[in-house]
Amino acid sequence: QEKNPNEPEFLQAVKEIFDSLVPVFAQHPTYIKHGILERIVEPERLIIFRVPWVDDEGKVRVNRGFRVQYNSAIGPYKGGLRFHPTVNASIIKFLGFEQIFKNSLTGQPIGGGKGGSDFDPKGKSDGEIMRFTQSFMTELYKHIGPDIDVPAGDIGVGAREIGYLFGQYKRIRGGFEAGVLTGKGIGYGGSLARTEATGYGTVYFVEEMLKDHGLSFKGSTVVVSGSGNVAIYAIEKATQLGAKVVACSDSDGYIFDKNGINLETVRRLKEVERKRIKEYVNEHPHAEYYEGCSGIWSIPCDIALPCATQNEIDKKAAELLVSNGLKAVGEGANMPSTLEAIDVFLSNNILFGPAKAANAGGVAVSALEMAQNSARLSWSFEDVDAKLRDIMKNIYRNCVNAANEYGCSGNLVVGANIAGFKKVADAMVEQGVI
Ligand code: NDP
Repeated sequence: QEKNPNEPEFLQAVKEIFDSLVPVFAQHPTYIKHGILERIVEPERLIIFRVPWVDDEGKVRVNRGFRVQYNSAIGPYKGGLRFHPTVNASIIKFLGFEQIFKNSLTGQPIGGGKGGSDFDPKGKSDGEIMRFTQSFMTELYKHIGPDIDVPAGDIGVGAREIGYLFGQYKRIRGGFEAGVLTGKGIGYGGSLARTEATGYGTVYFVEEMLKDHGLSFKGSTVVVSGSGNVAIYAIEKATQLGAKVVACSDSDGYIFDKNGINLETVRRLKEVERKRIKEYVNEHPHAEYYEGCSGIWSIPCDIALPCATQNEIDKKAAELLVSNGLKAVGEGANMPSTLEAIDVFLSNNILFGPAKAANAGGVAVSALEMAQNSARLSWSFEDVDAKLRDIMKNIYRNCVNAANEYGCSGNLVVGANIAGFKKVADAMVEQGVI
């Protein structure tokens, strides 16, 4: 805490993981001897840089860029880039720290990293986005590479931004190093099913969790927060599995459609026209729009899939969900539930799929994109989707087994943290004090 003042999100993420690791350290004193906790919590490096760019009016603007290269014990740093005005060192460090364990859980050889900028893409022209993104890469390229650090998208960084980032990297470096970024367009080295992977993966994880308890998506009512990349594909897969998704949101408010969300409308509004979610009711007048995004958790549902941002479900929202008959939560976003909200879910026996396990499908398919780039191959959508489903089943099983082994049966928060941690900790022990 003293070393990281004013970093509440980072401290929250560390607390959640360290609390889970108590039984591991009791059984493996070698981790203490090798200073694993002290080392794992400290990023290998945190790069902060100036990103100057010129807006459409000719005015010079300056944003702050970040890349945290957190841990490379099991592979090159891997993790997304976030462009959002709330981005600061605390946010980037919490995301990078969680990414270490998530990436380990996927079973793929990837270390933990994360980055981004406090740049706000909202309301910016295409030209402004491109100029900012090129300026961002003009510094970032010095620190990344297919075997060093491989960024991807996150909030505010989708296919368009990855395209501009890749173009600028290629222009500076020369050659065609496809493996330097993931989430690329299909025409230049992207993987089929990467766009869908985080949302689909979250639903596959929850499907396993439900199945284990005699439940399923079929016939259930689902609330999904957000309306970005993760939310859209979580809505799609849950609907395909027979659920009715009745609500989604953006940072201004949420829509409730008792007939089930029309995904084509949401996708067009958000992905193509880049409009606000409230426009949905113009096309579907029977639906309702409410200002303020947190109210979405007052809608009764069987399954909640928070897919927007960190700390979007607090204790009060969790209690409301539980009192309205909630059965399961799958975290599509990173750290969307506060520590108090998680306590409410666990103490009420709600099935709870924590982010670093439930949303690991995106980075898992990113690792598959890296493998395809190295082999100069492209797998079919069906191949990648089948691999994703298998990966999510394995993650679920590994979390359950780790929780059982350390006396916390049914607690997937503990299970995910332990399963993700051990592989990284063992690699750190074997590589010596570095
Ligand atoms: P997008 O930018 O595509 O979408 C984000 C969505 O969340 C938008 O609907 C946005 O609304 C909303 N949102 C963003 N910030 C806030 C906020 N402060 N309050 C309320 N709503 C907000 O991002 P993604 O879908 O890619 O990411 C969503 C979450 O999933 C993040 O936590 C991300 O870290 C996590 N994640 C993403 C992965 C991926 O592969 N993309 C992988 C693993 C995790 P608005 O349009 O108003 O900004």
